[in-house]
Parts: sequence; structure tokens; C-alpha cells
Amino acid sequence: MEHTIITGIQHFGPELTMEQISDLYERAKAARTFSYSPYSKFAVGAALMGESGRIYLGCNIENGAYSPTNCAERTALFKAVSEGEHKFVRIGLIGGYTNPENIVPNCNPCGVCLQALSEFCDPDRFLVLMYSGDGSVRIHTLRELLPYGFNFMGIGMIMGG
Ligand SMILES: [Zn+2]
Repeated sequence: MEHTIITGIQHFGPELTMEQISDLYERAKAARTFSYSPYSKFAVGAALMGESGRIYLGCNIENGAYSPTNCAERTALFKAVSEGEHKFVRIGLIGGYTNPENIVPNCNPCGVCLQALSEFCDPDRFLVLMYSGDGSVRIHTLRELLPYGFNFMGIGMIMGG
């Protein structure tokens, strides 16, 4: 699929090519096929790239009690961290109602996932790629999506530590 980039970011770093944008899309799409979403019927796939170059896939995993439900982004992140990767460069996301051809525009990460990612990502360099079914992809830095995330550095300043 040909991708059209929609973003305000001027510089992605030298490593992000159109080929890589397409590759992340295909991987996120493949991850989405494993979504367990019988309640919302909204299936999400994520492909998270670590600094090592390895890509970790995730899907949303729902639960009948709702609260234990996990998003695709955190599924990929927790898989990666549990396998020793602690630094990440980008994530690709795709979501839509369970028909695989239904891909909604702008499947943004939720606030919980952004906070979880912020623990392991440089907010000014980590890129979130949100794919749409028409081939367009919106790209934002983590800081753009989560400008005031929690971290202990901020707490340290407030407490004088
Ligand atoms: Zn989430």
C-alpha cells in the first residue's frame, strides 16, 4: 500500500523511510488479526520497534470483566520489556471494527498506553504512526501526544529531591 504522510514533524531522523512506514503498517495489520475483542468488536494491532531494530507485535486483549483488558500498544510493550528491550524508536497502530477491511482513521493510543510508553521512550524522538485504511498515516512524537506525562524527575523537582 502506498502511504501518504500527514504530520507537522519536519524531521523523522535518518532512519525512517517510506519502506519502513509500509513495513510497520503490514506488521501492525498482521498483529491485528490476533485481536481478542469480542466485547467492543474493535480490533487493534500494534508494531513496536526497539532500538535493536527488533519489532514486537501486540493486539488488544479484552476481558469479560472489562477492567483487565489490555491495549495493543501495551501488549507489544510488555512483550518487549519482558524480553529485555528497554528503548524504543517508533510504534505503528491500526484499528477498526472486527472486519479486517474496516480500518478507522486516527486510531490514537489511549492515555494509559502513552504513559506506559513514556517510561521507555525519548518523548521527542519516539514516533507514533497512526495508519488509516485509505493509505494515509499520521505521525506524531510521543511528546506531542503526551506533553505532560508523569515521571519521577518532575516529582523530584517539586519535592526538592
Ligand atoms: Zn491504550
